[in-house]
Amino acid sequence: MSVLETGIQYIKGVGEARGASFEKLGIFTLRDLLMAFPRAYDDRRTVKRIDQLQFGETCCVCATVAAPPKLARVRRGLDITRCAVVDETARMTVTFFNQSYVGRSLVPGRSYLFYGRVGGRIGAPEMQNPVMEAEDVPPSFTRRIVPVYRMTAGLSQRVIANAVRQGLALCGDELPEQLPQPVRERYRLAQTRFAYENIHFPRDTESLELARRRLIFEEFFVLSCTLAFMRSRQGEKAGKRIAFPDMDPFYRALPFALTAAQRRAVEEILGDMTRGERPMSRLVQGDVGSGKTVVAAAAAYAVIRDGRQAAFMAPTEILAEQHFSSLSKLLAPLGVRLDLLTGGLTARQKREAQARLRSGETQLVIGTHALISESVAFDDLGLIIADEQHRFGVQQRAALSDKGDAPHVLVMSATPIPRTLALILYGDLDVSVIDELPPGRQTIDTFLVGESMRERIYRFIRKQVEAGRQVFIVCPAVEETEETPDGLRSVKEYARELSEKVFPDLRVALVHGKLRPKEKNEAMEAFAAGDVDILVATTVIEVGVDVPNANLMVVENADRFGLSQLHQLRGRVGRGEFKSYCVLFEGAGGEAARERMRAFCRTNDGFKIAEEDLRLRGPGDFFGSRQSGLPDMNIASFAADVELLKTAQTAARELLDDDPELKREDNAPLRESVTRLLEKNRGTLN
Ligand code: ADP
Ligand code: MG
Repeated sequence: MSVLETGIQYIKGVGEARGASFEKLGIFTLRDLLMAFPRAYDDRRTVKRIDQLQFGETCCVCATVAAPPKLARVRRGLDITRCAVVDETARMTVTFFNQSYVGRSLVPGRSYLFYGRVGGRIGAPEMQNPVMEAEDVPPSFTRRIVPVYRMTAGLSQRVIANAVRQGLALCGDELPEQLPQPVRERYRLAQTRFAYENIHFPRDTESLELARRRLIFEEFFVLSCTLAFMRSRQGEKAGKRIAFPDMDPFYRALPFALTAAQRRAVEEILGDMTRGERPMSRLVQGDVGSGKTVVAAAAAYAVIRDGRQAAFMAPTEILAEQHFSSLSKLLAPLGVRLDLLTGGLTARQKREAQARLRSGETQLVIGTHALISESVAFDDLGLIIADEQHRFGVQQRAALSDKGDAPHVLVMSATPIPRTLALILYGDLDVSVIDELPPGRQTIDTFLVGESMRERIYRFIRKQVEAGRQVFIVCPAVEETEETPDGLRSVKEYARELSEKVFPDLRVALVHGKLRPKEKNEAMEAFAAGDVDILVATTVIEVGVDVPNANLMVVENADRFGLSQLHQLRGRVGRGEFKSYCVLFEGAGGEAARERMRAFCRTNDGFKIAEEDLRLRGPGDFFGSRQSGLPDMNIASFAADVELLKTAQTAARELLDDDPELKREDNAPLRESVTRLLEKNRGTLN
């Protein structure tokens, strides 16, 4: 067993009780301890003479104890130790509250370093509760850059730092060197020992920077290798090329002309599929409403013209049905045979639909996860389209791929994804960006309002409905039983109040996550059909839903949502010819949240919003909880370290090209790290 697996309590100076506190910080072993990098640093390098001290500054002073410290018990629970210290220029008092033990360690005639904030009076400087250490021991907490660790009760910075120092000494040469030497040399990365020593106890700022660079690189590198490794296990086959299709009938059938960006995406897709060196693996990225569906339709049409089948996988039943109806309108007149396959069908309907798929009668099937199920088989599956990609993992895409012979794969993102994140999430995909909205789209006017505006907003809602429009009201999901200190109300209660008190004469319906799929569908369909004026909902309506008559989106407690989520919600309106609005109730989120939302009101550009969201919340939250498919990072930041991410990805690709299974001796430590990361993120990494 590696010394790195040593239990934290066995490290000198830790023990059972402190060990338990460390465990609260997620630190169980020596490895965890060394990986718990400081969250900040305190630069204590400035040492001043006493006569140079400025009131209020924080620095080190080197001084000799002039007389034995005096302990005074002020009252029960408060004692003060005072001690006069001198250097060759002047005299200073150091004072400690409730630290009587300090007195015993201050020896008259011996010199110490004191680090603290300068107080006292002019000519009589004082430091209260300074950090101190003897001058004749190596600098640990003064005269240098000192780490600041995450804390919890029962620990102190000193205890943690000492444990880390012990730990570094303990593991000698066994520090995990995961980077193969050629990689380290090629990218000029510091050695492990140097990196770990300097990330905890930096010798100087340059060394800290070198250490950080190496460790960030390393973290990205291991992640990239892990993702690439997973993907390579899924196998690569040559793709079947399709004949270049005659797309004219398709274009003629469209009720509009494609935008230049859409045309470009279609060309890239056709290029992939007609070249056929390997199966297409392409991500179509575009802002909400940029028209991704029709691009997917073009791809499906091309494959079907070539005599093969296409499958279109949507994340929810509602979306599957919507796509089925809009794609039927477009493609059925062109002679394409479409079918719908969702969990909502009866057993018999399912069997029949599956039989039509197997025989090849169905050319384009639209469905949910139901498409992945065992009993679904195709005659000749040529293309898979996954809409709103992040809800499907690589695993699921692969499961569907296995139903064909290396089919082409097209995935469509639900939200614009920042470049960095796309890079790592979809490192295996080519990307088409639709960076243009169809002409004539109006911008959606977005307002941030407080409680005082509530009555006016209710009147505004009524006005829209009276003009024949429909309205979404979205609330964060809250259980009825939950305590709701900051004015959050359960959706159900709120919907009841709206329908009984505020809009008794209007048709109000409710959808939330707890409804059965069938009930959810019915409510959504009623809204889509215009039989409901106001739809109160949790974020179940977040993705995709298309109701062109809806022109007002009201979001309660908007501070509770991420910006990308708000952008998705806003994208539910403005899909028809009507001037559209989005109103955000600011909630109790405070000034930082308000600032974020104000920025959101100012732009309709989903890519900008995504970058901002990533910067503010990190990738874990980016798609809502647990959906990013990325593990939490220890030191690297997807937002701040883009350049290193790219470098690490390149390095990972080079290495895996050379040793795809990581079988070489010198790659063994890396393989171990990859395995560990896979283990740790079973289920999260997709
Ligand atoms: P998203 O990219 O959000 O999935 P959709 O594919 O749902 O967007 O398209 C949004 C709306 O825009 C649909 O009603 C679609 O018919 C329409 N649309 C798509 N492309 C064009 C275009 N080139 N010109 C006009 N309208 C378009
Ligand atoms: Mg869509």
